[in-house]
Amino acid sequence: MQLACLDLEGVLIPEIWVNVAKKTQIDELLVTTRDIPDYDELMQLRLSILDKHGLTISVIQEVIDTLTPLDGAKEFLDWLKARFQVIILSDTFYEFAAPLMRQLDYPTLFCHKLEIEESGRISDYTLRMPDQKREAVKRFHELNFQAIAAGDSYNDTTMLTEADRGILFCPPQNVIDEFPQFPVTTNYEELKAAFLKAQGEITAG
Ligand SMILES: [Mg+2]
Repeated sequence: MQLACLDLEGVLIPEIWVNVAKKTQIDELLVTTRDIPDYDELMQLRLSILDKHGLTISVIQEVIDTLTPLDGAKEFLDWLKARFQVIILSDTFYEFAAPLMRQLDYPTLFCHKLEIEESGRISDYTLRMPDQKREAVKRFHELNFQAIAAGDSYNDTTMLTEADRGILFCPPQNVIDEFPQFPVTTNYEELKAAFLKAQGEITAG
């Protein structure tokens, strides 16, 4: 039995922070790992910005609730679920992803979680473990599963490397250049074809 391990943001749903920034018109929230490579520093900054603007979890969830999965994402996921056991490995937080998971029929999601006070203030966050995407694939291998992984960004590349086959979906040019070993797909039809090709290869091998 083969597993399909999928990244979430940029593959099935839009980037959450970018869209929260746009919808709340708080430009400071547009900072990404490209601006601040240290993830903890970036998250602490984001949380302090939310604090400054008094944005509680319920306000942010209302914003996220107005987002929809990427065009064709639900159909792609349904197609994939019929052929693989699908596990979504994401660096987002359950509290943010929840409204979008409903629209995708609640696929299995492994991600991180927020620390939320009774008032709804987000006080902190807890990472499941460092590099959880790669660690998860390692554990699946220990359970004798083969895994094909797909993601769009730099934070997916250790997962793609760990998997039996890795596929890039709509990646930025720097990721394409730095990881030429992974096939690049730019729409769901190409992604489906890449999954089937990878499946054929590891089944034959
Ligand atoms: Mg992504």
